[in-house]
Amino acid sequence: MPICGIMISIMTNSKIKLVKIPGNGKGIVAQATIKKDEIIAEYDGQVVHLHSKWNNNLADHVIQFAPKSWRATNGLAKYLNHSCEPNCGLLGLFTIVAMRAIRVGEQLTWDYEMTENNKNERWSMNCHCGTRSCRKIIGAYRHLPLAIRRKYRGYISSWLVEAKIPYVKRT
Ligand SMILES: [Zn+2]
Repeated sequence: MPICGIMISIMTNSKIKLVKIPGNGKGIVAQATIKKDEIIAEYDGQVVHLHSKWNNNLADHVIQFAPKSWRATNGLAKYLNHSCEPNCGLLGLFTIVAMRAIRVGEQLTWDYEMTENNKNERWSMNCHCGTRSCRKIIGAYRHLPLAIRRKYRGYISSWLVEAKIPYVKRT
Protein backbone atom coordinates (compact mmCIF):
# COMPACT_ATOMS: atom_id res chain seq x y z
CA MET A 1 0.00 0.00 0.00
CA PRO A 2 1.40 3.43 -0.85
CA ILE A 3 1.90 5.80 2.03
CA CYS A 4 -0.49 8.60 1.16
CA GLY A 5 -0.11 10.58 4.37
CA ILE A 6 3.08 12.30 3.32
CA MET A 7 1.36 13.59 0.18
CA ILE A 8 -1.11 15.63 2.18
CA SER A 9 0.26 19.11 2.62
CA ILE A 10 -0.28 21.18 5.73
CA MET A 11 -2.88 23.75 4.67
CA THR A 12 -2.78 25.75 7.90
CA ASN A 13 -0.28 25.56 10.73
CA SER A 14 -2.00 24.84 14.07
CA LYS A 15 0.33 27.36 15.77
CA ILE A 16 -1.51 30.31 14.19
CA LYS A 17 -4.87 31.82 15.02
CA LEU A 18 -7.19 34.44 13.57
CA VAL A 19 -7.65 37.50 15.77
CA LYS A 20 -9.03 41.04 15.57
CA ILE A 21 -6.21 43.52 15.01
CA PRO A 22 -6.96 46.99 16.44
CA GLY A 23 -7.46 49.36 13.52
CA ASN A 24 -6.68 46.74 10.91
CA GLY A 25 -9.58 44.31 10.77
CA LYS A 26 -8.48 40.74 11.22
CA GLY A 27 -5.05 39.24 11.27
CA ILE A 28 -3.04 36.18 12.18
CA VAL A 29 -0.90 35.83 15.29
CA ALA A 30 1.34 33.06 16.58
CA GLN A 31 0.00 31.09 19.53
CA ALA A 32 3.23 29.07 19.81
CA THR A 33 6.81 29.74 18.77
CA ILE A 34 7.30 29.30 15.04
CA LYS A 35 10.64 28.32 13.51
CA LYS A 36 12.25 29.91 10.47
CA ASP A 37 10.99 28.30 7.24
CA GLU A 38 8.06 26.60 8.96
CA ILE A 39 5.00 26.38 6.69
CA ILE A 40 2.27 28.76 7.87
CA ALA A 41 -0.58 28.44 5.39
CA GLU A 42 -1.29 27.81 1.73
CA TYR A 43 -3.36 29.37 -1.02
CA ASP A 44 -5.32 26.29 -1.93
CA GLY A 45 -8.56 27.64 -3.38
CA GLN A 46 -10.22 28.82 -6.55
CA VAL A 47 -8.10 30.03 -9.46
CA VAL A 48 -9.20 33.30 -11.05
CA HIS A 49 -8.00 35.05 -14.17
CA LEU A 50 -7.99 38.66 -15.29
CA HIS A 51 -11.30 38.23 -17.08
CA SER A 52 -12.98 36.04 -14.46
CA LYS A 53 -15.94 37.32 -12.47
CA TRP A 54 -14.44 39.22 -9.53
CA ASN A 55 -15.99 40.61 -6.39
CA ASN A 56 -14.32 42.75 -3.70
CA ASN A 57 -13.99 39.89 -1.27
CA LEU A 58 -12.16 37.83 -3.88
CA ALA A 59 -10.03 40.76 -5.05
CA ASP A 60 -8.81 41.42 -1.50
CA HIS A 61 -7.95 37.82 -0.73
CA VAL A 62 -6.07 36.29 -3.63
CA ILE A 63 -2.42 35.73 -4.45
CA GLN A 64 -0.99 36.31 -7.91
CA PHE A 65 0.91 33.40 -9.47
CA ALA A 66 1.13 34.30 -13.19
CA PRO A 67 0.78 37.51 -15.24
CA LYS A 68 -3.02 37.17 -15.39
CA SER A 69 -3.81 34.55 -12.76
CA TRP A 70 -4.57 34.56 -9.04
CA ARG A 71 -5.62 31.99 -6.48
CA ALA A 72 -7.89 32.20 -3.44
CA THR A 73 -7.71 30.16 -0.27
CA ASN A 74 -10.02 28.00 1.78
CA GLY A 75 -7.90 28.34 4.91
CA LEU A 76 -6.41 31.18 6.94
CA ALA A 77 -3.78 32.37 4.44
CA LYS A 78 -6.02 35.20 3.23
CA TYR A 79 -6.02 36.80 6.69
CA LEU A 80 -2.28 37.42 6.76
CA ASN A 81 -1.82 41.16 6.57
CA HIS A 82 0.79 43.05 4.61
CA SER A 83 3.80 44.61 6.30
CA CYS A 84 6.79 46.45 4.85
CA GLU A 85 8.88 44.63 7.49
CA PRO A 86 7.34 41.15 7.21
CA ASN A 87 8.24 38.01 9.11
CA CYS A 88 6.84 35.65 6.44
CA GLY A 89 7.42 35.11 2.74
CA LEU A 90 6.69 32.74 -0.11
CA LEU A 91 7.83 29.23 -0.84
CA GLY A 92 7.10 28.53 -4.50
CA LEU A 93 3.81 30.08 -5.57
CA PHE A 94 1.22 29.36 -2.92
CA THR A 95 2.89 28.56 0.39
CA ILE A 96 3.48 31.14 3.11
CA VAL A 97 6.49 30.31 5.31
CA ALA A 98 8.20 32.04 8.23
CA MET A 99 11.23 34.11 7.13
CA ARG A 100 12.55 34.08 10.68
CA ALA A 101 11.59 32.73 14.10
CA ILE A 102 8.28 34.21 15.32
CA ARG A 103 7.38 34.70 18.98
CA VAL A 104 4.07 33.93 20.66
CA GLY A 105 1.63 36.81 20.17
CA GLU A 106 3.50 38.30 17.22
CA GLN A 107 1.42 39.09 14.15
CA LEU A 108 2.34 37.17 11.01
CA THR A 109 2.72 39.28 7.88
CA TRP A 110 4.19 39.11 4.41
CA ASP A 111 4.91 41.76 1.81
CA TYR A 112 2.26 41.73 -0.92
CA GLU A 113 4.85 42.86 -3.45
CA MET A 114 6.49 39.43 -3.01
CA THR A 115 3.73 38.10 -5.27
CA GLU A 116 1.78 40.88 -6.97
CA ASN A 117 2.68 42.50 -10.26
CA ASN A 118 -0.56 43.56 -11.87
CA LYS A 119 -0.01 45.74 -14.93
CA ASN A 120 -2.84 48.00 -13.82
CA GLU A 121 -1.43 50.80 -11.63
CA ARG A 122 -4.83 51.16 -9.93
CA TRP A 123 -4.13 47.85 -8.20
CA SER A 124 -2.36 49.42 -5.29
CA MET A 125 -3.12 50.16 -1.67
CA ASN A 126 -1.98 52.68 0.90
CA CYS A 127 0.07 51.02 3.60
CA HIS A 128 -0.24 51.99 7.23
CA CYS A 129 1.94 49.20 8.62
CA GLY A 130 3.78 51.71 10.77
CA THR A 131 7.20 50.12 10.34
CA ARG A 132 10.28 52.25 9.83
CA SER A 133 10.67 50.98 6.27
CA CYS A 134 7.02 51.53 5.26
CA ARG A 135 6.81 52.28 1.53
CA LYS A 136 3.35 53.93 1.90
CA ILE A 137 2.03 52.60 -1.44
CA ILE A 138 2.01 48.89 -2.17
CA GLY A 139 1.02 47.30 -5.43
CA ALA A 140 3.50 45.67 -7.75
CA TYR A 141 6.80 43.82 -7.57
CA ARG A 142 8.23 45.98 -10.36
CA HIS A 143 8.24 48.86 -7.84
CA LEU A 144 9.95 46.86 -5.08
CA PRO A 145 13.42 48.39 -4.61
CA LEU A 146 16.38 46.13 -5.36
CA ALA A 147 17.76 46.36 -1.81
CA ILE A 148 14.48 44.97 -0.47
CA ARG A 149 14.40 42.25 -3.13
CA ARG A 150 17.85 41.19 -1.89
CA LYS A 151 16.58 41.17 1.69
CA TYR A 152 13.67 38.93 0.61
CA ARG A 153 15.82 36.57 -1.50
CA GLY A 154 14.44 33.03 -1.28
CA TYR A 155 11.02 34.30 -0.17
CA ILE A 156 9.73 36.00 -3.33
CA SER A 157 7.11 34.15 -5.39
CA SER A 158 8.85 31.94 -7.94
CA TRP A 159 6.82 33.37 -10.84
CA LEU A 160 8.33 36.82 -10.25
CA VAL A 161 11.85 35.48 -9.79
CA GLU A 162 11.61 33.47 -13.03
CA ALA A 163 10.15 36.42 -14.94
CA LYS A 164 13.22 38.54 -13.99
CA ILE A 165 11.14 41.71 -13.72
CA PRO A 166 13.29 44.85 -13.70
CA TYR A 167 12.78 47.53 -11.07
CA VAL A 168 10.59 50.45 -12.19
CA LYS A 169 10.41 53.55 -10.03
CA ARG A 170 6.88 54.35 -8.90
CA THR A 171 5.71 57.61 -10.47
ZN1 LIG B 1 4.09 49.65 5.11
